[in-house]
Amino acid sequence: MSQSLLVVTAHVGDFAWRCGGAMALHAQRGVPVHLICLSYGENGESNAAWQGHDAVEREAVKQLRRAEAEAAATVLGVSSLDFYDLGDYPMPDSAEAVQRISQTMRRTNPAVVLTHPEHDPSNLDHCRTFDMVLRARMQSMAPGHGRDHIVPPQIMSFEPHQTELCGFKPNILLDITSVWDKKWQAMQSMPTQRNLWAYYERVAMQRGAQAGRRAKSTGQLYGEAYQSIFPTVMSTLVV
Ligand SMILES: [Zn+2]
Repeated sequence: MSQSLLVVTAHVGDFAWRCGGAMALHAQRGVPVHLICLSYGENGESNAAWQGHDAVEREAVKQLRRAEAEAAATVLGVSSLDFYDLGDYPMPDSAEAVQRISQTMRRTNPAVVLTHPEHDPSNLDHCRTFDMVLRARMQSMAPGHGRDHIVPPQIMSFEPHQTELCGFKPNILLDITSVWDKKWQAMQSMPTQRNLWAYYERVAMQRGAQAGRRAKSTGQLYGEAYQSIFPTVMSTLVV
């Protein structure tokens, strides 16, 4: 079975800002990209959608965010998109969600799973997502849970909103220059969080500048930063 890229986020907007470039890059190369959004982010990350509304219109806010996520995912070339609707701020722990994620891992055989970092004191939903992804990974590699168990995927944390606060130390810089236009378009598919557009453009330029130093490249690059959780297995150090 060919390998895929799986993205698991706490809220619908998270994937566009933090790993939209990686998603577009791999989809463009023919790698299946699967996306799971554990919640619509309706409580904590949809502030603009609540203006002029009250709590009885919660479903309308959720549907708005769902439509935005679907539009962004289409731009990025996502193969499958799954909404768990767990609720947010706070997101509950869910053994059922862990089971569902592990089943998706078995079905899609990801080489890499992109998700939130382990630590994020300003957003415990992100930490909970990281924890649930690791538990799902354990289940997916355990033959006792079914014969379709898989080789455990690498887990890579994407960059959080407040990098230093989360103790995030990237060890991978991904050059997303060739797909920056798609990431920018995906971000703009989420007008509810338009306050983040310029911020994440700056982040991409910052990481691109750092990637350019390593690659001795000229011209503006756009980049995304990742931190791998497990060691990378190599058979040579010089390629
Ligand atoms: Zn979030």
